[in-house]
Amino acid sequence: MAKTLSPYGVALEQLRLAAEKLKLDPGIHEMLKVPKRSLTVSVTIRMDNGKIGVFQGYRVQHMDARGPFKGGIRYNSTVDLDEVTALSMWMTWKCAVVDIPYGGAKGGVCCNPKEMSKGELERLTRRYTSMIFDIIGPYRDVPAPDVYTDSQTMAWIMDTYSQMKGYSVPECVTGKPVSIGGSEGRAEATSFGVDICAREAAKQLNMKMKGATVAVQGYGNVGWNAAKIAYDWGAKIMAVSDSTGGICSKEGLNPYKVYEHKQKTGSVVNFKGSENITNEEVLETKCDILIPAALENSITKNNADNIKAKIVVEGANGPTTPEADKILCEKKAILIPDILANAGGVTASYYEWVQNLEREHWPVEEVNSKLETKMVKAFNDLYCTVKKEKCEMRTAALTLGVGRVAEAIKVLGLWP
Ligand code: NAD
Repeated sequence: MAKTLSPYGVALEQLRLAAEKLKLDPGIHEMLKVPKRSLTVSVTIRMDNGKIGVFQGYRVQHMDARGPFKGGIRYNSTVDLDEVTALSMWMTWKCAVVDIPYGGAKGGVCCNPKEMSKGELERLTRRYTSMIFDIIGPYRDVPAPDVYTDSQTMAWIMDTYSQMKGYSVPECVTGKPVSIGGSEGRAEATSFGVDICAREAAKQLNMKMKGATVAVQGYGNVGWNAAKIAYDWGAKIMAVSDSTGGICSKEGLNPYKVYEHKQKTGSVVNFKGSENITNEEVLETKCDILIPAALENSITKNNADNIKAKIVVEGANGPTTPEADKILCEKKAILIPDILANAGGVTASYYEWVQNLEREHWPVEEVNSKLETKMVKAFNDLYCTVKKEKCEMRTAALTLGVGRVAEAIKVLGLWP
């Protein structure tokens, strides 16, 4: 049986398909296969028990032809160079698809944040920041939150960077708390974009969000906010999950109450009035809209055929393998690919960076209205391409993203 591709393997395969479609210059294809810069660091900190903890950290900068590198930082035990490299490449295409002036990067530290104290996480973040300090910065590379990092992590990064510079540099990182220059609306932006894509896709099927049934895999920043916004728009949340398992209810779940339960118990499981199910069952729930919002390679050739949703919106990065893509396409599901579906996050991050550089603070209405206009246009432009070229949405998005980056590389030329 063919081995499941690693995330970087999936990213390379996607690039190969786009390159083929674009008849890309082989030299540019070679350039895009490998990141411009990969830094591996050994992050050593004093643990609470007095011992020294040593953690592998990474910052991978894929391509900056369209602007400074941009991408999140992930803390998880799955983090390795392969995963971070794939995520950095997806960031390059994503920024190009929504046409914001950034390149793609990603960072991460291999650790188990759930078993670390707040003090240990702060020391880890500060030490990691100091070790990637030379290659980040407001005009070089601007980090943001990702899996198991949040606005507090970004505040520690900003403070460490600013202390090392000797003056305050809020524009060195996005996804910060509002009190230190974070943007209104940034916390929900990724999920707002996910739900806008779901809503626009639903319109194509003559459906509305009001009354649509939804299942969400992952109940972190992206998953919980996506469930909450969909619920506020009148959708019925049938099932949700996190790393500990899933829950479902025929009557529909109240995502606010599920969130409160998770805050109290650390998990969505055993929520009153719901039935416990497996993570796999959440993906296979009978529903109109499925939002995978956890990690890579969740939808594979082993479960794609059992997915019943008519619309799959990739809140997570890389949740569907290329084999699963084909199966979902044969089932005529609309799959909205990550590089469009979750681009609301980096778009709002861009708005935060612009506000910081201009020393401005925009009201939430302004941020959300700009974001909505951007996401609706990006969705509909791609959907038109899908209809015109009779291809799936991922191919249309990758071709657009890779094509825009390749064009920038061509115009810049090679130095020296
Ligand atoms: P998070 O740390 O806030 O949440 C991750 C969630 O996934 C948690 O609820 C965790 O329990 C759950 N999870 C982990 N393993 C799981 C599994 N095997 N099955 C089910 N659930 C599992 O992270 P996040 O910021 O919400 O990111 C989720 C995804 O969205 C990632 O792929 C990330 O790269 C992507 N993303 C995030 C942002 C952002 O702004 N935070 C932007 C774009 C894309």
